[in-house]
Amino acid sequence: MAKRVLLVHTGGTFGMAPSGTPVTLAPGPLVARILEEVPELAEVAELRLTVAFNRDSASVEPGDILDLARIIRQQSGDCDGVVLIHGTDTMAYTASVLGFLLADLGKPVVLTGSQRPLAYVRSDARGNLVDAVTLATRGVPEVGVCFGEHWLRGVATEKRSVHRYQAFESPNLPPLAELGLHIQMHPHAGRFERQVPAGLGQAMECALAVYAPFPGMPWVLPHESIRGVLIEAYGTGNLPMQRPDLQALMDHCRRRDIPLVVGSLCPSGGVDLKTYELGRMAAERGAISGGMHTRWAALAKMGLVLGAGGTPGDVRDAFGKSWAGEPV
Ligand code: ASP
Repeated sequence: MAKRVLLVHTGGTFGMAPSGTPVTLAPGPLVARILEEVPELAEVAELRLTVAFNRDSASVEPGDILDLARIIRQQSGDCDGVVLIHGTDTMAYTASVLGFLLADLGKPVVLTGSQRPLAYVRSDARGNLVDAVTLATRGVPEVGVCFGEHWLRGVATEKRSVHRYQAFESPNLPPLAELGLHIQMHPHAGRFERQVPAGLGQAMECALAVYAPFPGMPWVLPHESIRGVLIEAYGTGNLPMQRPDLQALMDHCRRRDIPLVVGSLCPSGGVDLKTYELGRMAAERGAISGGMHTRWAALAKMGLVLGAGGTPGDVRDAFGKSWAGEPV
């Protein structure tokens, strides 16, 4: 019997068309005709198309992503897998949120998109979509990004190029699958412990501030509406702890129960606040180690925990544990 795949469209370059003067790329109506445009999909699976929205992914809001999780749960019951067409700009964030919220779905959720619109010559859209639909029929329960030659675990993925067709990487985790002449699934695909706490996904706390330091940067206190802080520190989590303004920022967060997570500006490897004296000083002032979380997994995790009413202690616990196969 033919495999069934739910195809959810959300926008992105994939379906864009030239518009306006000067000419720019904007979401177009192409996707409604996707089965006519890519007829070979019928050889792979029976598709059911849902257009959740049709936007440049830079305009996707966290509420949209929570809606996507609901749409996928409600509409994928009789399907073998799900494909989500999404813009590349925020795909890694969406993949991280969905990776956590749909870790127990029990079927593949494959995010894909393209660098060039489907309507253009030399577009990567067609190949990416056919690969994504094929992966969605393979029964491997992962939420992952299918792009270029790889399928990558969503909660470990980052966009790394604006022009290469191999646009995404998961710097701390080997690909789930290689997409070449054959699809070669790796043994860790679908194998991870699911430890996502119950009760997440009703709301997402987005009042989070991200600091990306450079030598001499003024450490301004976060706006009073901010509920969580991510500092993308140097290397293994080092910060200029001698700076009174940074000390004041950390003390401010601690006094106000604002969790402060330390990540790294380096995509590969992770934070270890025990390696250097400066890291130890940050930990002593209340910093939570972001370990190997990508920026997107870190923001997704903090947003989900705080959105569910979690405390800084809950955020600390969350970063100490892999919820859905994310490297920690
Ligand atoms: N701006 C586009 C988007 O994220 C880029 C893309 O899809 O490649 O929607």
